[in-house]
Formats: sequence, C-alpha cells, structure tokens
Amino acid sequence: MSGSGHEQLDVNTLAAERQVVRRHYRAPELPRLAEAGLDGTGWVDVVLRFSAVGDGRVGCDLALSGSLTLQCQRCLQPYEQALAGSSRLVFVEDGSDEPGGEADETEAYPVKAGWLDLMELVEEEALLAVPLVARHEPDAEGCGGDHEHVADDRAEEEPRQRPFAGLKDLLKS
Ligand SMILES: [Zn+2]
Repeated sequence: MSGSGHEQLDVNTLAAERQVVRRHYRAPELPRLAEAGLDGTGWVDVVLRFSAVGDGRVGCDLALSGSLTLQCQRCLQPYEQALAGSSRLVFVEDGSDEPGGEADETEAYPVKAGWLDLMELVEEEALLAVPLVARHEPDAEGCGGDHEHVADDRAEEEPRQRPFAGLKDLLKS
C-alpha cells in the first residue's frame, strides 16, 4: 500500500532530470477504476518518462498495464480484463488556453503551478483502457461455447413465448 494518496509530482524538475517514475496501484486506491470493475479488485502499473518537449514545455510518455475483473456481457461470467494503454502528454497550466502538442498524438494535460496529481492522471488513463463493452476474447474457452448452448436466436425468442405456451398447456389439460 502506497498510502501516498494524491501524490503530487513536480513535472518541471522531473523533466529537467529526465526522470522515470514507476508506480503500482491497487484498484481500491483508484476509486473510479474500482467502481468500473465487478468486485473492486484489480491493479494498475504505470511508467512515466518525463522529458522536455521544446518551447520550454515539458511532458511525459506514459505506459500503463493492469488487470480488472469485469462481467462478460455475453456469458455474464466474471473474467479478468487486461488493461493496456500508452499516451504522450504535454503539461499545460490548468485554466490557461495554451495549445496542446503540435503533434496530433500528443495530449494536453493540466497541471497546477507545475504540479501533477499523479493518482488522478493514472485513474483517467486506466479508465480509458477499460473496454466500453466488457466481453471475453472471441475465442475464450467457456464463453463462446456456453453462448451456443444457451443463447442462440431461438433460445432468445423462447422466454417471450413461454407464457402463451404455458397457457396452451393449461387449456389442454
Ligand atoms: Zn464470456
């Protein structure tokens, strides 16, 4: 447990020293990520490589990996979703109208007087890595197989017809 809460990083100093910051978070330390998961467990590792990006500005390359338990929307079973993502950030003062990076793939990220709220950044980046539709890999064992048994087109129609079928049986008897 880091116990660091909202760790603040001095991005200008880190960039001047070309520092690499590595952190490990458990999902409960990132409340919005924990909420996105099924059981509040999971973890995220981040690596941030700080550097100057020109024009006196600083940025970092962020790489993220992790895991979160989600509920598969196809077979409704919990499964481990791997999280992965990377971003190239350029830091801009919060509230300023500084443009972001010149390069399209650069994301402007706000800091306050040069201080970065690391946890908030990691939480946002981790949420971006969570798929919109949670689902096993297409060839996952158990998922596709179960799907064929319980949820083909006819099986999906059946529940709606069942009340009438039951009624017919009653009338017959
Ligand atoms: Zn599944």
